[in-house]
Amino acid sequence: MKILVTGAAGFIGAALCERLLKEGLQVVGLDNLNPYYPLALKQHRLTRLEALAGQCVAAPGNARRLGSFRFVKLDLVEREALRTLMQEEEFDVVVNLAAQAGVRHSIIQPFDYVDSNLVGFVNLLEACRDTAPSHLLYASSSSVYGDDTRQPLQESQAGVRPLSLYAATKRSNELMAYSYAHLYGLPVTGLRFFTVYGARGRPDMAPLRFARKLLADEVIDVYNHGQMARDFTHVSDIVEGIYRLMHLPPTQEVNAAPSRVLNLGRGEPIALGNFINGLEAALGVPARKRLLPMQPGDVERTWADTSTLETLTGFRPSVSLATGLEELAEWAQQYPSLLRETDDEQSPRVGCPDEA
Ligand code: NAD
Repeated sequence: MKILVTGAAGFIGAALCERLLKEGLQVVGLDNLNPYYPLALKQHRLTRLEALAGQCVAAPGNARRLGSFRFVKLDLVEREALRTLMQEEEFDVVVNLAAQAGVRHSIIQPFDYVDSNLVGFVNLLEACRDTAPSHLLYASSSSVYGDDTRQPLQESQAGVRPLSLYAATKRSNELMAYSYAHLYGLPVTGLRFFTVYGARGRPDMAPLRFARKLLADEVIDVYNHGQMARDFTHVSDIVEGIYRLMHLPPTQEVNAAPSRVLNLGRGEPIALGNFINGLEAALGVPARKRLLPMQPGDVERTWADTSTLETLTGFRPSVSLATGLEELAEWAQQYPSLLRETDDEQSPRVGCPDEA
């Protein structure tokens, strides 16, 4: 099986590639290596993948060779280069994790979102139309639910009121993907990820930002006095969900068009205060907190209904907060310089705690 993973130098993309290599698959990883956060972290993830590829590992009874990995630096907006790559490689499955991520950044640099998440996404859909992979999976986001308070959030109730351009592009992706499924029979699965954390994570998001501040003995701003809750989901659960779904393309017999959208989250909201307590325990250092009121535009809670995922795959995300934080803490302690949010720490990016 040959798989294209876009956003392969990113947090979730690299974790997925690692899993696919361990399954012995042929992986092509595409990324434009954008400078949204320091390149050193993206390079760190790629170096790890390159080291894993082709390795021989001992397995019960016989040795096993891990899959192959080829990195291609390419931007999804490069329409013809993307089409050529996909024509040459004839991928069985395409997993699109490339996007300009971040909620707050979409207020500052809106056109990055239009380019990568809208134009780039249509370029990918067109290349898929042309080369007909058996399944296209793509990242959507829990942000499509906006401030919907009917929780847990069910797939059917999204998303007519996105609260940011980022969320609007993700919801648009779902609509665009549906139209390609309807028009051309392209099997598509959209994945609404809920606040993902883990080793080699995103330094612009709360988990790594908190870890960095804890290790540097800096004050942590805790909004809504720590009462805000997020459905924090460990990256290995996200990867497991994608891996299982890869093998289950939607069919026209089941849906009007072979298109579906699923929640991929732990299914358990965790108060920010409890998340920080867990991180303090995992890192073995106390936090200095500044309790603040809720920020405008923020949502109080996210909580995924995961029953559709479970019905389809038999899989239920299961990594406990304590286990997930231990894994994050071990890596963070080993590579503190990779927790930096920008190359210039004198002007850190302003952000809300749940940017996704
Ligand atoms: P990330 O920023 O670490 O990874 C995205 C990667 O895509 C980056 O390495 C970037 O260089 C690359 N990229 C961006 N635009 C590109 C383009 N035009 N062409 C090629 N490459 C491009 O983010 P992540 O956390 O790994 O997120 C992966 C996907 O999941 C994104 O679509 C994101 O919006 C979505 N998502 C993430 C979370 C989360 O909690 N991490 C939550 C909801 C949704």
